[in-house]
Amino acid sequence: MSSKSTGLRQWRQRFSALFQDHEIFVRTRGHVRFLRVSALWQKRVALIGGLVLVAWAGITAAVFINQLLTANERAEVAAQQAAAAASEARIAQYRDRVGEIAADLDERQAQLEDWQRSYFGADAVPGEAGEAAPQADAAQPAVETSAIDPRLPPEAQILARIAARQEALSARLLAAVNERAAKAETAVAALGLDPKTLVRNAASGRGGPFIPVRDRDARGKALGPAFAALEGALFRMEVLERTLVAAPSGNPANVLMMSSGFGHRRDPFTGASAMHAGLDFRGPVGTPILAAAPGRVSFVGRKAGYGNVIEVDHGQGMMTRYAHLSGFTTKVGTQVTAGQQIAKMGSTGRSTGSHLHFEVRLNGVAVNPRRFLEAKADVLEVKNDARQRVGALAAHRGAR
Ligand SMILES: [Zn+2]
Repeated sequence: MSSKSTGLRQWRQRFSALFQDHEIFVRTRGHVRFLRVSALWQKRVALIGGLVLVAWAGITAAVFINQLLTANERAEVAAQQAAAAASEARIAQYRDRVGEIAADLDERQAQLEDWQRSYFGADAVPGEAGEAAPQADAAQPAVETSAIDPRLPPEAQILARIAARQEALSARLLAAVNERAAKAETAVAALGLDPKTLVRNAASGRGGPFIPVRDRDARGKALGPAFAALEGALFRMEVLERTLVAAPSGNPANVLMMSSGFGHRRDPFTGASAMHAGLDFRGPVGTPILAAAPGRVSFVGRKAGYGNVIEVDHGQGMMTRYAHLSGFTTKVGTQVTAGQQIAKMGSTGRSTGSHLHFEVRLNGVAVNPRRFLEAKADVLEVKNDARQRVGALAAHRGAR
């Protein structure tokens, strides 16, 4: 305490030492006066000057601080506004996203329903029992609802549930398609055809006029991998079923007797061994000749050796040829059904008597027609199913 007061006293002494009484002599026109400036006055002036300085510094600082604060406030308000704008943008983005997801779901649903109607018609898709009403049902959690994130906002959860149900429906549809395709595949293989080659040829556009147009709308791929897989499976199923329908298993003439087998035999004219590319059916001249499968008449006319010939293109690379005819009952370009009369039996060309020479060609190569004509009942049953389905598909596409 004492040291502090002595320190203060010392400062005061130093301060007082700065101000000492001054006497100033002023001479004006011979008169000499003297002005006395006391230390007290000097101190007062110095004090006032000091105070003015301090006041000015204070005001300047206040103005400066005020400016700083205002700038800070402005920045803060701007930051708040930016945050609000960002949040609004986020909300708008989320709304857009919900709209987008809903539109996607809608498109997928339309595609699924279209496929289901086109390929299954009135048939329910297997495994659909109890799932008929596609309404959200809390009492019956239909599909993997556990996969839905509970942190999602309510509207997003609704969409997620719809998406999950849709996935389940497309999985059931895929299973049903694969099951049907497997049946058709077995039947196609039983006819001696190679299902893999058929599907591959069709996919590369070499299957003839009856191949389904793949990706006709290119929608499946755009709707994601599950839909692309479903579209691929539907394509495969359709190719196999159409092949079954196109397989020439109908009798080309209502005569039972086959007078000549397929393969090497003695030529009836030269006696030499020759390849016989078809089957012969013996019958009276004028016997109706029937299309062995539905297709388009691709040739009507004469060919060396065959005499009067008619050819029908069945698609999937399959063609039938009917030779030695006495007349035709159809023209090139006509769509014919299985069993429809296309010509009359005769003995034109290299023929020893009235008969039908019947050939089946697969991608231009003659194959034994017996494997089609003698198809087993189970194969014919699958074929019959396929015929109805392909017919319904054509009707559906025609109506669209
Ligand atoms: Zn023949």
